[in-house]
Amino acid sequence: MNDNKLNLILKLSVIYLIVALILCVFAIFYTQSLKNDAEQKRLQNEIQVAQMQMPELKEPQATAAPQNGNGAEEAIALSGDKITGNSSAALTSPGGRKVIVLDAGHGKSSSAMSADEKRAEGYEYNESRGGWGEWRHYKNGTFGEECHGSGCTETAPSGGSCWYPMGNGDRSNEPQINLNNTLAAKKYLEQMGYEVRLTRTSNEQNPSMSKRVSYCFPNNDATQQPDAAMYVCLHSNAGGGRGTSYVALEGAYRQSYIASDYVAESNRAGDVINRKVAAASGLRQNSPIGNESYLILFNKSPVPIAYLEIGFFDDSSDLSILNSSYDAIGKAVAEGVDEYLNS
Ligand SMILES: [Zn+2]
Ligand SMILES: [Zn+2]
Repeated sequence: MNDNKLNLILKLSVIYLIVALILCVFAIFYTQSLKNDAEQKRLQNEIQVAQMQMPELKEPQATAAPQNGNGAEEAIALSGDKITGNSSAALTSPGGRKVIVLDAGHGKSSSAMSADEKRAEGYEYNESRGGWGEWRHYKNGTFGEECHGSGCTETAPSGGSCWYPMGNGDRSNEPQINLNNTLAAKKYLEQMGYEVRLTRTSNEQNPSMSKRVSYCFPNNDATQQPDAAMYVCLHSNAGGGRGTSYVALEGAYRQSYIASDYVAESNRAGDVINRKVAAASGLRQNSPIGNESYLILFNKSPVPIAYLEIGFFDDSSDLSILNSSYDAIGKAVAEGVDEYLNS
């Protein structure tokens, strides 16, 4: 072989190698992109399947909540949560988004609030009733017209009356627990596309129940139609016991705006959310709390209301769950709201 031939063969070999190399690189990139496409399709399929399965994850309605068998729990919730109150249903959605009012129970202690603060939060001073407080009802068939002791259902706890002294709502540890759960629920509801209105955003606030339910209306304007789909208030229990529950509505509510199925819908919402919270947190699922159907919020909410008592903050095991799992609890509340509104 002469030098020229050798040279030519070498050149051809180099060209051949370069072409082969380029083809290899192309082949590698091509298979990689095919893989990515396939992976993406697989993921999309999984997400679709998961979404399709979600509604089937609903707990069966018929399952009875375990009895907590502890009368003291009810008694406590009694002394503690007389505060709230009422509602009726409007599933409207301004701008296409459903509005959820989230109410973190309690707040700043009445003893730490000035008279101006109390007035601004919607409480009134009533000398003959013994100080600052709020009326438990509106006049029958009205919204916003305080009962002043008559012309209402007059439902009240035994020994109580139409007047609710605001000091009865003072709590030391519960406001922060409720706020933690509420803020987490807000985050997840917003991720789901809901508009969320909070009745308070810090422990330096303590709105009256009348002020809290005003968030069910556009710009807190109770002369307009309520635009909230539902009202969810989050509390935690105390006084001996464990587990999570909701307070059941019962009997007559006479504020305007509420629908004829106000009681049934509110209790259904409480049940759905409570089941979610129990499943997600490991808190024991208790049966609904009875004998508190006089709660102010039940008498004043214009839309269906779910009133949760999540865990017992004076039980060390429940408290450790509350302190470590509020994100999961908030997520469960959001999922419960979503399930209730879509079932
Ligand atoms: Zn009354
Ligand atoms: Zn409470």
